[in-house]
This record gives sequence, C-alpha cells and structure tokens, in this order.
Amino acid sequence: MEVWFTEDQTSNLKISCKVKEVLYHRISDFQKVVVIDTVEFGRMLTLDDVIQTTEKEEFVYHELITHVGLVTHPEPCRVLVIGGGDGGSIREVIKHDKVQEVVHVEIDDKVMEAAKMFLPTLSSGFNSPKVEIRVEDGIKHVKEHKNTYDMIIIDSSDPVGPAKGLFSKEFYQTVFEALKEDGLFVAQTESPFFNQDLIKNVHDSVGNIFPINHLFCGVIPTYPGGYWSFTMGSKIYDPLNVDNKNISELNTRWYSPDIHKAAFILPPFVKNYLK
Ligand code: SAM
Repeated sequence: MEVWFTEDQTSNLKISCKVKEVLYHRISDFQKVVVIDTVEFGRMLTLDDVIQTTEKEEFVYHELITHVGLVTHPEPCRVLVIGGGDGGSIREVIKHDKVQEVVHVEIDDKVMEAAKMFLPTLSSGFNSPKVEIRVEDGIKHVKEHKNTYDMIIIDSSDPVGPAKGLFSKEFYQTVFEALKEDGLFVAQTESPFFNQDLIKNVHDSVGNIFPINHLFCGVIPTYPGGYWSFTMGSKIYDPLNVDNKNISELNTRWYSPDIHKAAFILPPFVKNYLK
C-alpha cells in the first residue's frame, strides 16, 4: 500500500510526497513534530503538517539565510539564531572562522530532539563549542538583550502560533536594539507568490527602522510556489557593496559570490508591490 504525506500549502493548493516510513512523531507543547522518510526528498521535518526542511534541498534555504548576511558583515563575531530547530542554520554559521559565539534560541526542544535523532546532516553543529543552546521564546530573548549581537538570523516557521510575533514591526524594533551599532539581521519572509501582503508589510516595517533594507530570493522546491524570500535589515553594511573578491571559500552547494549578487535581483512583479 502506498502512503503519502500531503501539506495544504494554501486553501487551493496541496503538495504530496510518497512516504517510506514515519521516523518520529510527537505532540510538543507547541506543535506536532514529525520526521518522515520520503522517496523524493529523503528525510523531511514537518511541524503541524507543514514542511520545514528536507535532506535533499535544505542547503538552499540554510545557505541563503546565513551566508548572505555573514559575508556582508565584516566581523560577525556574535550571532543569534532564532528558531531553526533542525540545526541547518547553525551548521552553516559555524563555517565562518570569524564567528566566535552562536546563541541558538529555539522555543521547542522536541524539534531539536527530532533533528538530533533523525536529521544528523543538519544537526551536526549542535555540539560545536561555539554554540550555546537556549530553549526559550526568541521574542523574549531579543527584548532582554540590548546591543549584544553582530547578526541575528530569524529562521522561523510560518507566521502562526509562536512564530506570529516574529513578523511584527514591534519585533523588528527590538531586533534593531539587540544588534550592535553596525549589526544586521536576516529573516525568512515567505512566498513572493502567496504572501505578498506579508512581504510588503515586513518590507515597510524594516524600512522604517533600518537604514538598509533588502529583499532577496532563492528556490526551495518544497515551499509554496518554490520561490522564497528573505529580508535583510542592516544598520551600516550594504550586501550589494560586498566585493566578490573578498568572499572566501565556504564549501557550499547554493551560495557563491555570484549568487550573493544574483539573489538580490528581483522580478518586476515583486519590485512593483514593494514600491
Ligand atoms: N526552514 C523553515 C521554514 O521556513 O519552514 C523553518 C524551520 S525551523 C524548524 C522553525 C523553528 O522556529 C521551529 O522549530 C519553531 O519551533 C521555531 N519557533 C517558532 N516560533 C519561535 C519563537 N517565538 N522563538 C523561538 N523559536 C521559534
């Protein structure tokens, strides 16, 4: 008998993947946490039946949400990762020699448990001596840490439940305050096809707070629409001014000096609604 996992990506759109085996299934205090082994994408993490990451294509998302900002900041010594319980972002952040300390704030320890047990290629960085793991709400953490971080990465789930506040103007203001005077942040900001209002709101909010504000995009096959956005707010450093020659080898599969520039090239339909 064939078993299929289906995510309702919008009320009118579904994605289905053929399942080999369900490896992990728990109801945490926040959500249903599941790891499935799929035929097409390898192991897949879902939260409340929404795909978060898969072994086959996770590198695109994790390399974009981390390296674009880490390369833009000349001295990213102290980095905060909010969310990202699968560990993929941490794995990429610690590739940078200049990073001395990574504080990882994930609200749900069951997501990290599932990743440690069944997604070892993503969670490999959890044991790094550079990484401090805190199980707490990222919104509260940011409020309580002023002028602390060089870079903040907001690797959140969709804007529902505990992640809702991670997309608000008030939150971006506290992110500004938690960053040092030359700090910057990068957040995942959903689908340019299906979340236009959200992207526009985030863009306007960040633009009102940060002097430098850019949207950049990548291709993530299992996310709604396949085309995905990230937002960077920066106090001083502009990612478009990074000199390609200064980008060192990082052992990546998606990110490269050319991708660093290309990711910021937006199609007219996106530029138009950002105006
Ligand atoms: N790549 C993913 C995506 O876009 O679908 C995000 C993956 S990661 C698993 C998202 C994580 O954010 C989840 O593990 C969730 O528990 C965590 N999270 C949600 N709200 C949070 C909050 N307020 N503070 C800290 N972590 C949060």
